Amino acid sequence: MQQEARLVTVDRVWSGRWHGPSVVRVSPTAIHLVGAAAAEHGAHAGRGEHADLPHLPGTLFSPFTDSHVHLGLVDAEQLVRGGIGRVLDLGWSPDVAALWPERGRVDAGWPEVQVAGGLLCPPGGYPSLAGWAPDDAPVVVADAADAERAVVRMRDLGASVVKLTLNSDVGPVFDDDVLRAIAVAADLVGLLTVAHVQGAGQVRRALDAGLLRFAHTPFSELLSDDLLDRAADGTWISTLDIHRAADGDRDEAQEVAIANLRGFRERGGHVLYGTDLGNGDLPVGVNERELRALQRVGLGREALLRALGSDDSLDAGQDGAHWTPRASWVPQPPPGDERDDPAWLARASVLTASTLQEHLS
Ligand SMILES: [Zn+2]
Repeated sequence: MQQEARLVTVDRVWSGRWHGPSVVRVSPTAIHLVGAAAAEHGAHAGRGEHADLPHLPGTLFSPFTDSHVHLGLVDAEQLVRGGIGRVLDLGWSPDVAALWPERGRVDAGWPEVQVAGGLLCPPGGYPSLAGWAPDDAPVVVADAADAERAVVRMRDLGASVVKLTLNSDVGPVFDDDVLRAIAVAADLVGLLTVAHVQGAGQVRRALDAGLLRFAHTPFSELLSDDLLDRAADGTWISTLDIHRAADGDRDEAQEVAIANLRGFRERGGHVLYGTDLGNGDLPVGVNERELRALQRVGLGREALLRALGSDDSLDAGQDGAHWTPRASWVPQPPPGDERDDPAWLARASVLTASTLQEHLS
């Protein structure tokens, strides 16, 4: 492992905005942008003051984030090799998930991890009977008093968000009082809620309860203009590629989700890239198909990158605590045609102080 900080030059950097040739400082605890390289690197460049620094070809990004994963079902190290440097885990055994943020802090072969812990649901509600969920992943909330206990328990385990389910396609759902009690309890302890909203009429119920952050783009029904207007203050995690028909046919639920996400974005809604990784046959790493689906929604290059970010971690002048020891990196420059962006971004791997050396030219 490389123990000391190194300065390298890189062709370009995305940190919420584009930077040209740049000097980047890489250490085991932080990667950050020092500033613009004074002279172009390469055979045609004059010998600028940075010409003696080792050079990293390609494009360096704030760590790509998958905002909806289930780490209990995938290989976290493979995810890092596939370019994902940060994840939000949206549900597993709370006592197991509680260990992951620390693992992500000490092990650069892992992504940086935030967790929800368990999934708050009513007795018998999703995912109580789902094959993928460990027995203790559903955290049963029977009434408003339970809501506060469950939220405080997740907070004490180190959760960054509270995950709850509102899925009328599979089992019973919370009544309005308990929904509101969860939203209020989460607010009181300073945690965001992330709701799995599925089934006709459930988006309206979530919004009525003040729940604005959704684990999936709604796919059960085409949402009215009124609901989209109300939803647009919130954040939706995309997960468009969980809907897939065989043989490349268009999937009906995906078409509904794409139309909803388009309307949501047009009204200013905030979109995060997320895949529900662990749910079915999805690539472990940057998912090219998810990015293509987001392009169909209308996201151009910078919108895609914003959905993949974490946009504060590389900017010069930020407080050191905000920097991460990981960045995502693609060895190639951005393609001339934005239609090629998903394939380009899917070539990403995660750069750390210990993997830097093998990539320097
Ligand atoms: Zn999920």
